[in-house]
Amino acid sequence: MAVAPKRQDTRKFFENLSGEGKSIAVLTSGGDAQGMNGAVRAVVRMGIYVGAKVYFIHEGYQGMVDGGDNIQEATWESVSSMLQVGGTVIGSARCKDFRTREGRLKAAHNLVKLNITNMCVIGGDGSLTGANLFREEWSSLLDELLQQGLIDNEAVVSNSVLHIVGMVGSIDNDFCGTDMTIGTDSALHRIIEVVDAIMTTAQSHQRTFVLEVMGRHCGYLALVSALACGADWVFIPEMPPEDGWEDNMCHKLSENRAERKRLNIIIVAEGAIDSHNKAITPDYIKDLVVSRLGFDTRVTILGHVQRGGTPSAFDRILASRMGVEAVLALLEASATTPACVVSLVGNQAVRLPLMECVQMTQEVQKAMDEKKFDEAVRLRGRSFEHNLATYRLLSYHKADGELPHQNAFNVAVLNVGAPAAGMNGAVRSAVRVGIAEGHRVFAVSDGFEGFYKGQIKEIKWGDVGGWTGQGGSLLGTKRTLPGKHLDKIAEQMRIHNINALLVIGGFEAFESLLQLYEARDHHEEFCVPMCMLPATISNNVPGTDLSIGADTSINAIVEVREQGPVERIQTKENPGAVWI
Ligand code: ADP
Repeated sequence: MAVAPKRQDTRKFFENLSGEGKSIAVLTSGGDAQGMNGAVRAVVRMGIYVGAKVYFIHEGYQGMVDGGDNIQEATWESVSSMLQVGGTVIGSARCKDFRTREGRLKAAHNLVKLNITNMCVIGGDGSLTGANLFREEWSSLLDELLQQGLIDNEAVVSNSVLHIVGMVGSIDNDFCGTDMTIGTDSALHRIIEVVDAIMTTAQSHQRTFVLEVMGRHCGYLALVSALACGADWVFIPEMPPEDGWEDNMCHKLSENRAERKRLNIIIVAEGAIDSHNKAITPDYIKDLVVSRLGFDTRVTILGHVQRGGTPSAFDRILASRMGVEAVLALLEASATTPACVVSLVGNQAVRLPLMECVQMTQEVQKAMDEKKFDEAVRLRGRSFEHNLATYRLLSYHKADGELPHQNAFNVAVLNVGAPAAGMNGAVRSAVRVGIAEGHRVFAVSDGFEGFYKGQIKEIKWGDVGGWTGQGGSLLGTKRTLPGKHLDKIAEQMRIHNINALLVIGGFEAFESLLQLYEARDHHEEFCVPMCMLPATISNNVPGTDLSIGADTSINAIVEVREQGPVERIQTKENPGAVWI
């Protein structure tokens, strides 16, 4: 699949681009998703920046078929204050007319009247399939308009090629070829907000919560929210549980309760099924838990809340980057360039052939219909597979007797630097992965200060339960660098027989490991595997695009900005007042 060319000097690259004489239309179609407005805004501003005319098409394909006031030229100001608004300001619709050739003929006529030969479509796989069909039919539609005397020869020549670029707006993250679709991250925020809210009430009463989230065909939201809140069990359409799952689930819930876990969370995707294709409903799960275990159990169905609210910082940034890339794709397209979709691969916006991605997306459903679930998971892509593997790994509590202890390492884990949201989730994963691999994990409190003072204790699987949702650093973190205490740290490593070190933190964590590395000549205790995991809201650790905590802090800034009046606050970190 083709990817966007690498650009050395972005500014120079943009300066050489010209959209003079081109007209670009932008529309949103199908189900709405938070962040769609960010994509519309980026298309408008990038289009205007390169000198093109940009048109809004209101109400999706219906507006294109109906024409008239539905198609309006956009200005730079017309997209002001739109980035932070949920849903889609220019309207979206499901349009029966566009499914017919007659409807598409009217739509083509409306575009030709304004010499629009470039289109950005923001929608799901249905909308993008429609867009591709429209492009394939374009020359025959122009011929028909010519025959009917609705356009002249000159119009046929000057509008001979229609360029299409798609961006996927869908909260389900159900489109193959992209790691994230616009709207998914915001929907996850809504789900986690609800989980956080019910966690407080559930913990006071020892409850079990069964939470239904969207995803009739795709279990991404359920899977990732289960990962994010450390749910006890998750049901997704791609992974129907084996027969006897009722016994296994109840066993696990009672085991967790026996470990004094006061709260159980079960997440169910709307489309969850068992291996006989029978729906697994939240009520069925609730009745099961109540009748078998007698636990106080509540059902929460999130529904449209997941589409609501303001877009997350990630969705705003994703949509903005995709919108810019979409305009670049249109400017660079030739008559033979296939319609493309702008995707996110890793942290890069890339262009992929639209129809290949649509076909792959349809193949996932086919694989599921044929009960080839492993194939469906593989087709969903790398990120889905990784999430599933991580959830399985972190949620399965092996009894001590089941663990391999041969060649076990003693791994010390500590936080260094300022606290960052997500540090606790990282410690939890490290502890559990370490234990699952047969190693012993030692928690160090208060960073290297705690290390040289000997604040080191073995940490077990259950000790990190519930850590994903907690901010700050539960281990305790300090900025102290190890440099002045190397002898004492080496001594503690000897005492506890530490033969691997994981430091989770910011730039100080990075510097700390450098100091230990440079001291290897004098302290053989430091000649062990050492690794740092960047966790800092400043996102200033070399070698990574993103550090743990950076996304949460950007969201906090975005929320504060929207809460209106500027005020002065003091934090523990910054005793001097800070303007926010
Ligand atoms: P989504 O884009 O979110 O998948 P839909 O599948 O409902 O949502 O598609 C949105 C609109 O896209 C439809 O109402 C229709 O106008 C258009 N569309 C979808 N599929 C096709 C198709 N095969 N041919 C033409 N138009 C289509």
